[in-house]
Amino acid sequence: MSVAVVLFTSDLRLHDHPALRAALAAADEVVPLFVRDRRIEELGFGAPNRRAFLADCLRDLDAELRDRGGRLVIRSGDVAEEVCRVAAATGAREVYLTAGVSRYAVRREERLREALEADGRRLHAHDAVVTAVAPGAVTPAGSKADHYAVFTPYFRRWSQERIRDPLAAPRTVRVPRDVGSDALPSRAEVSGVSEGLAEGGERAARRCLAAWRRSGLARYEDLHDDMAGDATSRLSPHLHFGTLSSAELVHRARSAGGPGADGFVRQLCWRDFHHQVLAARPAAAHDDYRTQHDRWRADASTEAETEAWKAGRTGYPVVDAAMRQLRHEGWMHNRGRLLTASFLVKTLYVDWRVGARHFLDLLVDGDIANNQLNWQWMAGTGTDSRPNRVLNPVTQGKRYDPDGAYVRRWVPELRGIDGGAIHEPWKARGRAARDAPGDYPEPLVELSEGLARFKQARGRS
Ligand code: FAD
Repeated sequence: MSVAVVLFTSDLRLHDHPALRAALAAADEVVPLFVRDRRIEELGFGAPNRRAFLADCLRDLDAELRDRGGRLVIRSGDVAEEVCRVAAATGAREVYLTAGVSRYAVRREERLREALEADGRRLHAHDAVVTAVAPGAVTPAGSKADHYAVFTPYFRRWSQERIRDPLAAPRTVRVPRDVGSDALPSRAEVSGVSEGLAEGGERAARRCLAAWRRSGLARYEDLHDDMAGDATSRLSPHLHFGTLSSAELVHRARSAGGPGADGFVRQLCWRDFHHQVLAARPAAAHDDYRTQHDRWRADASTEAETEAWKAGRTGYPVVDAAMRQLRHEGWMHNRGRLLTASFLVKTLYVDWRVGARHFLDLLVDGDIANNQLNWQWMAGTGTDSRPNRVLNPVTQGKRYDPDGAYVRRWVPELRGIDGGAIHEPWKARGRAARDAPGDYPEPLVELSEGLARFKQARGRS
């Protein structure tokens, strides 16, 4: 009886899982294994929202495997050591996994390969699974560059790439009987989780996907910036944990067709774009991608201003609403992410790394490629071709939340102000007491002052 191990990492699903499919084809029995990697915690990347969502994903994966006659095996510790231990105990000569994209995942894979080979075993890594197109698969023609630094030409080239057809979920999974497993983690064990955190797991992901295809996708192009409408897919946590496959999403959207689907596929391409930048330049996780020689503010008032930003008390309603959504749900609308990031890096002139860290502490979809490189994009140190763009929170609030419904949802102090006037509560002060914004703070800084400081600093650097 031959046995193979499938190591699950950020691919916590049964549908469209090339490594699982290959293992099932090669062996009579497979061990579906997840190792709770203690180094992730040590590196400070184990934010409660992601740990809770991960617990949902693992429980769901186990349940799905049980429906097919199998189960999930959980181990904790060092990934290479645990995989070798399971392979030795079951006599598995082959181990299958999804190729990693981040520097951490690539190194972990190298260590695992070495450890397995030293034991006479083989590792099979399947790429183009975390992303629809593997990082490095397309590079600029006629140049020696190892990645695309600008989105539009990447998108053009990416759109011509063949994306593999998604695979069906297996019907049966036979797991050797005598492999021991740690207990499944549970969301209830994690403290500090956001109250409105979404549910994790492949079955929840597929329900979201079905609802999205039924009623969201066609209107995406028109509504994706409508903050109150909340009309984006909210599939980002499922992409992050791999409970949905990006290749499958691209295929499904393309077959639906229309402007909504085109816009959605373009966003999925942004995800691949950032992953290929980070794969080629791993240091962009912490260093400026393009050197700007910025001298970010770090004076006595910066800390208090940053704390006000984190707490959603800057005095700019749409910024505060978005920061409160982040804390409450562990997720934020894309327009909110842009606005709050612009406010921190351009208006307060605080280092993008401070904001990126705060986002990673809370975001359920928080990942190094998308988070750090979007922060760098907004900070003007990344791939934005207009590095000096500044988003005005009042103008943007009026444009993307014209009736103020998004602000009213998250900032109860301002609920007494009707319509779009909510974006300038300082104008409501002095009006009837009914409209007064209660405990809501005055603006932390004048926008014109922030802009002048930004221009001066950028002029110097
Ligand atoms: P949709 O609009 O439905 O888009 C579909 C999918 O496309 C998303 O799920 C996501 O995977 C991808 N996508 C959309 N926009 C982007 C983008 N700008 N860059 C990369 N991929 C994109 N996204 C993350 O997944 N993780 C992060 O940690 C993250 N941090 C961000 C930080 C900042 C400062 C900014 C400006 C953006 C960040 N984003 C991040 C990108 C984007 O905001 C989210 O992917 C999106 O809001 C998720 O919501 P959705 O699934 O409804 O997106």
